[in-house]
Amino acid sequence: MSTLSKNIKNRKNLTEEEKVILLTEVNRVCPLCGTKLIYKKKTRNLYSFEVAHIYPHSSSEYEKELLADAKRLSDDSEDIANLILLCPSCHRKHDKYTTIEEYYTLYNLKERMNAESNCKEHFGDYKIEFEIIEVIHSLAENIKNNRSKFVKLEMSAMRIEEKSDETLDVFVKTTIEMYVQLYYLSIKDKFNELEKDDEGIFDLIASQIKSFYLQLKRKESNKSIIFEQVAEWIFVQSGSKSKIASQIIASYFVQSCEVLT
Ligand SMILES: [Zn+2]
Repeated sequence: MSTLSKNIKNRKNLTEEEKVILLTEVNRVCPLCGTKLIYKKKTRNLYSFEVAHIYPHSSSEYEKELLADAKRLSDDSEDIANLILLCPSCHRKHDKYTTIEEYYTLYNLKERMNAESNCKEHFGDYKIEFEIIEVIHSLAENIKNNRSKFVKLEMSAMRIEEKSDETLDVFVKTTIEMYVQLYYLSIKDKFNELEKDDEGIFDLIASQIKSFYLQLKRKESNKSIIFEQVAEWIFVQSGSKSKIASQIIASYFVQSCEVLT
């Protein structure tokens, strides 16, 4: 049997559900070049992707040696955790590895996708009080009306550095610091105002956010991913229209409670 026909024979046929999972992971575009992987023709959706194995399912002798000590995403090369969708052109380029860097390009992309979908599994299990949307709205009003009067939080009061480690990406860290510096006091004022009518609301919301954070922490150690997923969850649960606002709120809770400790 030729290598080609053996590959086709062994290649897993994806179920529709697996296709949806893999397409969602890459946002329906090739993660290496951005080409659309699904397009509409009249009323039909046509797929133009190929399924790539990150760790090869039938390695050449050269690849076996090259990847001898490489990390793997799954013991089973046919596991969905080891599969990624690529456009045909990128797949051709990555079908046989010639360097270890080529392998880790795909490995790192997929490792992040696996981590994000592990976090998203819990999005529906944790709720957040609706008052959070009032905080977001009041922040938006404040920004519109009082921008020039914003009091910045002193750098010495910031608690981001003490929570930082090598898994907190420098861009994520700087973004959190910037949001905390600009918006912390304004958000704090709004929570104080809410407390007057509804005592304990801050502690309740803080404990909801902390519970979700602790759940993510059990599965994921990368603080950048955790922060982004906490913000994404706030976005989904609050019904806010702004992902940035959700990141600002997540940053507030990094500063004010145990998120990212
Ligand atoms: Zn591509």
